[in-house]
Amino acid sequence: MDWEIVIGLEIHTQLATKSKIFSGASTAYGAPPNTQACLVDLGYPGVLPVLNEQVVVMAIKFGLATHCEIAPRSVFARKNYFYPDLPKGYQISQYELPIVHSGHIDIVTEDGEVKTIGITRAHLEEDAGKSLHESFHGSSGIDLNRAGTPLLEIVSEPDLRSAAQAGAYMRKIHELVRYLEISDGNMQEGSFRCDANVSVRPAGETTLGTRTELKNLNSFRFVEKAIEIEVERQIDVIEDGGSVVQETRLYDADRNETRPMRSKEEANDYRYFPDPDLLPVLIESELVESIRASLPELPDAKRARFAEQYGLSDYDADVLTSSAELADYFETAVAAASKAEPKAIANWVQGKVIAALNEDGLEIDESKVTAADLGALVDKIADGTLSGKLANDVFDMLRAGEGTVDSIIEERGLEQITDSSAIAALCANVLAGNEAQAQQFRDGNEKVIGFLVGQAMKASQGKANPQQVNEVLRRLLAE
Ligand code: ADP
Ligand code: MG
Repeated sequence: MDWEIVIGLEIHTQLATKSKIFSGASTAYGAPPNTQACLVDLGYPGVLPVLNEQVVVMAIKFGLATHCEIAPRSVFARKNYFYPDLPKGYQISQYELPIVHSGHIDIVTEDGEVKTIGITRAHLEEDAGKSLHESFHGSSGIDLNRAGTPLLEIVSEPDLRSAAQAGAYMRKIHELVRYLEISDGNMQEGSFRCDANVSVRPAGETTLGTRTELKNLNSFRFVEKAIEIEVERQIDVIEDGGSVVQETRLYDADRNETRPMRSKEEANDYRYFPDPDLLPVLIESELVESIRASLPELPDAKRARFAEQYGLSDYDADVLTSSAELADYFETAVAAASKAEPKAIANWVQGKVIAALNEDGLEIDESKVTAADLGALVDKIADGTLSGKLANDVFDMLRAGEGTVDSIIEERGLEQITDSSAIAALCANVLAGNEAQAQQFRDGNEKVIGFLVGQAMKASQGKANPQQVNEVLRRLLAE
């Protein structure tokens, strides 16, 4: 039987505010345990939460970028449950009236087709603390620093049909929140994580199958692998005559398996009710419009513009716009160049520049070779000053901090030899020193020209212009 896979993702993205969603405590990552949770985060009696205005602005930015409706009135609710890392006994979240809802985003599927994925809602909530099991033998540690950290939970429609589509959707949302500068998207630090809801149904069936929820997947790869393995498990269960149980499961990456964590709770288990300490959030259209006007160019628009304006392939445009910082680097280099083609600069960025960053463990905005340097360097190839090989060497010297493009070329005498009398002398020497090969060429062995050009390049220490050498050799040989 053919099975259809159905997936909906809930992505938790930590909003990049300095202070928490309802208190003035710092959100900075990595502080010693329990030094950044204040009385409000801990829900002590007699203290009151105050909404951080920035989180509202950030949620609206996300909503506008995903064609969502921005709710003129949204409400914070208490979601009641007990857990050691939630000493308040409830999490402040949004339930019936989320701040943002009913939008969509496009992904590119594994077949290269554009597919629109519905966004059900995106709501604001506070994070809980963390339970630490590793360094505590036979017990658990509790770090409440994360309590009260602002999250935007982005819930998709069950529109995704494969693990690869789920990965593409998650990457797309990740790219977007970083473009919008509403989250640092740091997955190691847990700033961007996802729960995957997965079910299967016979192909052609229209009602949804029973789903399981895979919790806290914090890498693109894990999301894809967890879904693949869970789909296999569900199909096995059904084909063996059983039925899928609605439950929350954990993905174990070491064993590449999912296993049950708890039975799935229903919304009414949480006894949601409006938080009496917080007023409804009223958003006026002037605020929405001023935020709309302040939005940066978004990834899809930038990609289309790069392809069109710079004559790049879809692939190049896609790579270069994968982050706003990389796109800025490319555009700054293009602007700094006066002769180089954007395509040539694109190749350098995707080749040498990215390889150097990976080696040095740096981000693009920390690149040792600045965008202006790169533009100047590729210009030197375009105007014939440097051969590709010498430009590579100059790049490495720039990276090592040995000067500017001009000073390096001048100090080391790297300038390509384009002077025709110098090249003619060089070629004449090579022919005199390799008479046998010269004769072979005259006898019709065309391929020997490669050897002769190689000899001339070697004699010039790579500085001769290879195309000129080739022409001059052929001319001399024909004499
Ligand atoms: P909760 O997990 O809090 O119960 P929802 O019921 O709203 O919340 O669903 C959460 C996510 O699960 C959404 O992304 C939705 O698209 C997805 N989902 C719901 N039903 C199914 C299903 N049968 N198969 C796959 N995904 C589903
Ligand atoms: Mg859920």
